[in-house]
Amino acid sequence: MNLFKDSDRSFDSCLKCTACSSRCPVASVRPDFPGPKQCGPDGERLRLKSPDFLDEALKYCTGCKRCEVACPSDVHISDIIADAKARYGKGNKFKIREFLLSHTDLMGTMTRGTAPIVNAVTKTKTAKVVMHKALGIDQRRQFPPYAHKSFRSWYKAELEDKQVFARNVSYFHGCFVNYNLPELGIDTIKVLNAMNIGVQLLKKEKCCGVPLVANGFHKKAKANARFNTDSIEQAIDSGSECVISTSSSCAFMLREDYPRMLGETEGNPHQQVNYITRFLTQEFKNGNKPELKPVNLRVGYHSPCHLIRSGGVLHTLSLLREIPGLQLHQLESNCCGIAGTYGFKKENYNTSQDIGEPLFHQIEEGEFDYIVTDCETCKMQIEMSTSAEVIHPVSLLARALDV
Ligand code: SF4
Ligand code: SF4
Repeated sequence: MNLFKDSDRSFDSCLKCTACSSRCPVASVRPDFPGPKQCGPDGERLRLKSPDFLDEALKYCTGCKRCEVACPSDVHISDIIADAKARYGKGNKFKIREFLLSHTDLMGTMTRGTAPIVNAVTKTKTAKVVMHKALGIDQRRQFPPYAHKSFRSWYKAELEDKQVFARNVSYFHGCFVNYNLPELGIDTIKVLNAMNIGVQLLKKEKCCGVPLVANGFHKKAKANARFNTDSIEQAIDSGSECVISTSSSCAFMLREDYPRMLGETEGNPHQQVNYITRFLTQEFKNGNKPELKPVNLRVGYHSPCHLIRSGGVLHTLSLLREIPGLQLHQLESNCCGIAGTYGFKKENYNTSQDIGEPLFHQIEEGEFDYIVTDCETCKMQIEMSTSAEVIHPVSLLARALDV
């Protein structure tokens, strides 16, 4: 099934400049990966003649979209590759590993009430070996712990119907905040409430679809896109100013990919989705800035690939610069290598760590108090591969609130 409603003809615009190839993190560590130009526009022309031209090495693309940032001709290289993998790839047959890694909301729901047991078991050597051998999930990979109580349950118990603010936004919390890091959702509400903005949850939400797309479940990803779009529409109709997300990848999917997946252009609600730092910097600019106390920390900022693609890094940096006392160092722009579920697979683990190595080195050399980043899987990768603790920009801002 095609991921996007209209077939992507952007490959016709390729100028053959090779700018994309110099920016591909996979090509820089894997000599057997042909690179974005050959896998994307060049390969697509051939695949349209015959699927026999499919190069199996396509599977090594992480979907980081760095090639698209470099492209002067707006070729949707990463999307062309993702579509080709699903349409022609031999690995399309149902695989339990791909299912488990991509159905994040189902996995989260299944751990409800059993989080301490699941967390303990997934750390054991026996479980790691079994997952490695039976499922192909690399035994060196660490799983993020599940929270004992979901963010949604916390919200229902503590806040639902209790927030009275003249202005309201809706929050697409995503799977990671709901099942793994409710603290980030709580910090988000704390910051927005300090700016006199109430936070409502969408009536219902499903996984944004990023892991589903990466693992070839395009039909399910589209169904989730339809479901979430309906929820966003309802929220806007009920008076929310916009929908915010604290995940740079979920926000990119909701705002940039959904309209192309669903084939909607005019009057779609996706433009009402804002990544949180974009929303906050706009508010600060308009004079709605909470009192902030000095946070005397030295932090390194890592820019996630999907935030670079959406042009959102400047909003996060500008927000962090508002925090008094913060010593902010922007790390050199290197992909961390995990690419969502990519780095969990045993055939990708070494590539994933090799890509991330220059970043890990910078982090260890920098002697920072924290690393700040907007992406949950970058957080997993950096915390697993370095001695650093990783914090979201909004959680840092919540620490600075003078309350
Ligand atoms: S999406 Fe990333 S890994 Fe894939 S071809 Fe582009 S730069 Fe390379
Ligand atoms: S950067 Fe764009 S235009 Fe240049 S080779 Fe790559 S896909 Fe083609």
